[in-house]
Amino acid sequence: MSEQLETSSPRIWVFIEQEEGQPHPVSWELMGAAGRLAEELPGSVVEGVLLGHDVAGIAPLAYRYGAKRVYMIDDPLLETYRNMPYGVGVSKLVTKYTPEIFLFGATTLGRDLAGTIATRVHTGLTADCTELAIDPKQKILAATRPTFGGNLMATILCRKHRPQMATVRPRVLPMPEPLAEAEGELLREPLDLKESDIPVRRLRLIPGEEQLNIEYADVIVAGGRGVGGPGGFKLLEELADALGGVVGASRPVIDAGWLSHEHQVGQTGTTVRPKLYIAAGISGAVQHTVGMSGANFILAINSDPKAPIFQMANASIVGDLYKVIPELIRQVKGTGNGQ
Ligand SMILES: Cc1cc2nc3c(=O)[nH]c(=O)nc-3n(C[C@H](O)[C@H](O)[C@H](O)COP(=O)(O)OP(=O)(O)OC[C@H]3O[C@@H](n4cnc5c(N)ncnc54)[C@H](O)[C@@H]3O)c2cc1C
Repeated sequence: MSEQLETSSPRIWVFIEQEEGQPHPVSWELMGAAGRLAEELPGSVVEGVLLGHDVAGIAPLAYRYGAKRVYMIDDPLLETYRNMPYGVGVSKLVTKYTPEIFLFGATTLGRDLAGTIATRVHTGLTADCTELAIDPKQKILAATRPTFGGNLMATILCRKHRPQMATVRPRVLPMPEPLAEAEGELLREPLDLKESDIPVRRLRLIPGEEQLNIEYADVIVAGGRGVGGPGGFKLLEELADALGGVVGASRPVIDAGWLSHEHQVGQTGTTVRPKLYIAAGISGAVQHTVGMSGANFILAINSDPKAPIFQMANASIVGDLYKVIPELIRQVKGTGNGQ
C-alpha cells in the first residue's frame, strides 16, 4: 500500500517504544524532533515503527504527535522485548522501506535495539545525541553529542550508509504538544518467526524495587558534595516530599555511596526537565548542568557566592544549606497548612 504513496519521499522514522502497551514518552519527544528535521528536508515524511502484541491502540497517538504512517509488527512473540525477534522485525522493515533517518530513545531497550539494527543493516549509529539537525549544505542528519568527557561537542554525519541512526536520551528533547486530532495510516507487516527460532525465552518477571522516576519528575531537590554525607539527604528528602518531588544528586554523591546511581543527574546520569530544580551544595560543573539546564526554574543554594551554579539559576540563596533548607521546609509546610 505504501508503494502507492511517496515512494521517493525521504522517510524519517521514529521507533515507538512501548512496554505492556504503554508508549514510552521519549517516543513522542523524538517525534517532535523528527517533525523539525522534516521541515529542513522538503518532501520528507515522519513515520513511526511499532512492535509488540496488541499494540495497534498506540498508533492513533503517534499520528497526533506527527506520524503520517505507522509500520506495525503485531505478534505474540513480541509481547515482551527480546533482542532477536525485535531485531529481525525492525531490520526487515528497514530493508523494505529504506528510511533515510531512524531515531531511537536512549533507554535500555532503545540502546540495545538500535545497536542491533545498525549492525544488521550495516550503517552507523550516533548514540546519546543532545541535538539533531539537518546539515544545511549536505542535507543529511547532523547528530551532535558530547565527547572527551563532555568538554567538546562532536557533530557526526553518516555520509555513505542508510539509514542515518541516532539515539537520544529521554528528556533531552522537549515534549511536543499533541494535535487534538490527526489521521494516519497503519501498515501491518508480518514477523514470520516461530518461538523455536528465538534463542531466549522469558520464564518469569521478577519485579525490581520501585523505580525512581527522576526523568519525568516535576520537582527535584538535588544535593551535591556540599551536603557532606548521606545523613544530610534526609533533609533534602523532607523538602522533596513537602513539594511532591524526588531527590536528585551530583556525581560525587553517587561515587561516595551516599545515594544510588538512579538519583544522579548529568552527563553520566539522567537528563531531567522538571518545573522546579533545587540545587543544594552543587557547584555547577558542566557535566552536571547539561543534565538539568532544561528545568523551567532553578533555585540554587550554595555557601560560595561565586559558585558557577548561580550563573544559570533563576533564584539564588547564598548560605548554608543546613540553615536554608529547614526554613524552606517550614515555609512550604506552613503554606500547605494554611498557616
Ligand atoms: C566524564 C565525566 C562525567 C561526569 N558526569 C557527571 C554527572 O553526570 N553528574 C555530575 O553531577 N557530575 C559529573 N561529573 C563530575 C563533575 O565534573 C563535577 O565534579 C561534579 O558535578 C561536582 O559535584 P558537586 O557540585 O556536588 O561538588 P563540588 O564541585 O565539590 O561542589 C560542592 C559545592 O557545595 C558547596 N557547599 C559546601 N558546603 C555547603 C553548605 N553547607 N551549604 C551550601 N553549599 C555548600 C560548595 O561551595 C561547592 O560549590 C563528571 C565528570 C566527568 C569527568
